Amino acid sequence: PLPTVVIVGRPNVGKSTLFNRLVGKKLALVDDQPGVTRDRRFGDASLLGLDFQIVDTAGWEDENIKTLSGRMRQQTMAALEGADAALFVIDARAGLSPLDEEIGNWLREQEVPVIVVANKAEGRAAEGGIYESFALGLGDPVPLSAEHGTGVADLFDALRPHI
Ligand code: GDP
Ligand code: MG
Repeated sequence: PLPTVVIVGRPNVGKSTLFNRLVGKKLALVDDQPGVTRDRRFGDASLLGLDFQIVDTAGWEDENIKTLSGRMRQQTMAALEGADAALFVIDARAGLSPLDEEIGNWLREQEVPVIVVANKAEGRAAEGGIYESFALGLGDPVPLSAEHGTGVADLFDALRPHI
């Protein structure tokens, strides 16, 4: 069986764009409106020859942001169970939000290895957000652009030890 990597993060940070980038097809719906991914989505990912199953989640979207125990969040927890690594995506252009910090706190309590992905990192507008994301306490962030495809070699380096 392939190793499993789960994508987590608040709405609109680019989780589904990253999923599509890694799968190489338009399997997940990408939208400017938060909350588009309604469920877990699975795909076969290939990253510079590294093969794994990738899971796109929607655990912190919609009303679950407030309740934290909603169905979607439970789906995220279920997805993380037995996963080999989690990609915690933040929006480097927007910088860290309180919700990012909350998700980060929650992820630190999980057993799964976490890689912080500072997405939307193309251009100078992302520099502050990349710097801020060190403060999550989850290791060095991997800056990348899911939309443009830059930074995937660094993602490979970060994932390789775990899968
Ligand atoms: P999700 O809600 O986390 O799944 O986010 P989506 O993948 O649906 O993307 C949300 C928005 O961010 C869309 O408008 C994407 O086009 C945009 N986006 C995703 N990745 C990037 C990126 O690398 N750079 C920029 N500038 N925008 C991105
Ligand atoms: Mg999505």
